[in-house]
Amino acid sequence: MVMNNYFLLFFSLLINVFILFIYFSKKRINLFENKIYIALTICNTVCLITETLCNLCASNILLIDENIIVRLFLILLLLWGCILTIYTNIISTKRTDKYGVISMLYLIVFCFFTIPIFFLHIDFLDFNGLYYANGEAINYIVVIALFYILINVILIVKNRKEIGKKMLPIIAYIFLMTIAISIHNIDPTISAINCLETFVILFMYFTIENPDLKMIEQLNIARDQAEKANNAKTDFLSNMSHEIRTPLNAIIGFSQALLEEDIPPSAKEEVRDIVMASDNLLELVNGILDISKLEANKLEIVNTEYSLSKVLNDLVILTKARIGEKPIEFRTNFDSSAPAYLYGDYTRLKQIVLNLLTNAAKYTKEGYIEFKVSTVKKDDICRLIISVEDTGIGIQNDKIDKLFNKFERLDLDKNITIEGTGLGLAITKKLVDLMQGKIVVQSDYGHGSKFTVAIDQRIIATPTKPIDEVQTVVDNVDITGTEILVVDDNKINLKVAERLLKDTNAIVTLVSSGMECIELLKTKTFDLILLDDMMPTMSGVDTFKKLKEDPNFKIPTVMMTANAIEGMKEKYLNEGFNDYLSKPINRKELNTILMKYRKKNDV
Ligand code: ADP
Repeated sequence: MVMNNYFLLFFSLLINVFILFIYFSKKRINLFENKIYIALTICNTVCLITETLCNLCASNILLIDENIIVRLFLILLLLWGCILTIYTNIISTKRTDKYGVISMLYLIVFCFFTIPIFFLHIDFLDFNGLYYANGEAINYIVVIALFYILINVILIVKNRKEIGKKMLPIIAYIFLMTIAISIHNIDPTISAINCLETFVILFMYFTIENPDLKMIEQLNIARDQAEKANNAKTDFLSNMSHEIRTPLNAIIGFSQALLEEDIPPSAKEEVRDIVMASDNLLELVNGILDISKLEANKLEIVNTEYSLSKVLNDLVILTKARIGEKPIEFRTNFDSSAPAYLYGDYTRLKQIVLNLLTNAAKYTKEGYIEFKVSTVKKDDICRLIISVEDTGIGIQNDKIDKLFNKFERLDLDKNITIEGTGLGLAITKKLVDLMQGKIVVQSDYGHGSKFTVAIDQRIIATPTKPIDEVQTVVDNVDITGTEILVVDDNKINLKVAERLLKDTNAIVTLVSSGMECIELLKTKTFDLILLDDMMPTMSGVDTFKKLKEDPNFKIPTVMMTANAIEGMKEKYLNEGFNDYLSKPINRKELNTILMKYRKKNDV
């Protein structure tokens, strides 16, 4: 231990003060390891001051007993090694609850280590004007320092995965200290251990202990945790949605079928209420699933080529059905110069506009609803400007801001009797944003509202593959002679399908597993297969793949599933299914599919 090099000591001290100043002046996260790091810096600072005092004593500038001050310095050197080992141990274990105990144990051992320092002998020597301390106490310190180095090596080797890139400064410590101790043993007048500790502290600051880096690291951890929680929520909702859809399929299916029976008018009214309530429940399930996926950024835009007139026609049919018997004039005003084919996510476009049209139908008692579509074309981009204007209850100006909040329903005293979830416009707004569009609302309270959406879509001159042309929705179908095989493990679902198909005069066969389906098809053929996906032992998709192994298998197969998460339709169509029908089965959707795949010579 040399007692002269003021410059190096002052410089190291300056670095420490600088680090402490920056550290405390920055916004930081105070994890246990950060506290240990600060303890390390403070210990090194005090140690540097003590070493300076030792030098001043050796130069007779300060008149304190060298024996005391040097022993204090040695204890501080040892303490630094102990704190660094605590640090290495802390970063190698994730058990935060153990941090306190670990630190305590190290400190107790440290206290034992310090006892001999008070008793061992120290020599003060003069070598050509360089004063240095030597003797038993110094040799003892070297042994303990090597002991701490060894523990650090063991910890790093054992926990290299957990420590990761944080091991860099620790390796620097092990490496530099070993060299410094070796040199000191060869020539006791060369000693820079304390300054090397400052270097390790500085290295730690720039690599792992910088408050900014720590903050980013913690934010990343928090983001990952939040993402995990959000994904778990979405998965939970998806599963719930599937579970709720299965009983809903029975409620909706049987009540739809009952409506067509010859039942007393009062019973019919009640069945209609059941249908309406279950439709509302389904809307809620779909809405919650959509909003959670939108919030988790899990909803993707799926662009395909589509026929604009088909989309508009579908919307008109659905809105007319929604308006029903109300004394409302439904006006349409479509730009005749609009391109026939566009490229974009028509399912989402339809969902956005349908929400607006449904709201118009819901919140208007009488008057008119105008559905207007105009276009602005630039190069191959067509801006669709779609507006829905109504003469309904209107929205108070100061409430317009709340309109797009989820579960927000306005003017409840007026529309308490109108079924709704308060999710429609929240989903609409998020979908419009996702499609990089704009939505604006104008409203005259008590007189009506106008919602306008602008969305860009790409113009397609000629579609690359044929696009389904406008299909008229049929209320009643007669497909006498068409043989249909329904595959579903759930007995009630089979009964619902059988009941819905009864009125169509189709010949229906029911089986309850993929294996039974495969076996049956070996001896019999059908015109159409309605196949459920989530079945035990063999899923619908696996069953279909097995069937497809036979090159002669040509029977149109429709996936009929409660797995109605967005994007599922595309997934099933990509698997090769001819069509997709979500549960609860919608009578009109079923009819459209039956008309498409019926035995043609029968109609
Ligand atoms: P829901 O209709 O299911 O309640 P929305 O998110 O679609 O949920 O709408 C939120 C609220 O905005 C509605 O409860 C209603 O108060 C108001 N609103 C939406 N559209 C209209 C409209 N065309 N006319 C009047 N009020 C509307």
